[in-house]
Amino acid sequence: MSDCIFCKIVDKEIPADIVYEDDLVVAFNDIEPQAPTHILVIPKEHIESLNEIHEDHKQLIGHIHLVIKKLAKESNIADKGYRIVSNCGKEGGQTVDHIHYHIIGGRNLTWPPG
Ligand code: AMP
Ligand code: ZN
Repeated sequence: MSDCIFCKIVDKEIPADIVYEDDLVVAFNDIEPQAPTHILVIPKEHIESLNEIHEDHKQLIGHIHLVIKKLAKESNIADKGYRIVSNCGKEGGQTVDHIHYHIIGGRNLTWPPG
């Protein structure tokens, strides 16, 4: 999608601190980290949000979870604990309309979220 900032990161039209990439996904450090580890994992395909995923995405979504697990381990937060967040829609706090999974860790995280 031409005006999507995350598609531009996928296409290398704008720079990002990419920590992992394969055929299906890109992962990069969040530009405004909320914790010592704050990585965003996105599919290369432009999917607006969780509301837009369907049966054909099952393998992709499963793959994203395996990538999250690998990155959490590499970031040394797997054993200590961390949080995965996918904000969906306006009231969910989504500000970029390309589905993404926040990996947040490296400090004690409070609950409930704001
Ligand atoms: P959300 O509010 O859940 O839609 O999350 C969007 C996230 O993208 C925020 O945490 C932003 O800090 C992050 N973000 C926005 N633009 C960039 C960028 N160019 N590079 C890295 N992270 C970004
Ligand atoms: Zn996009």
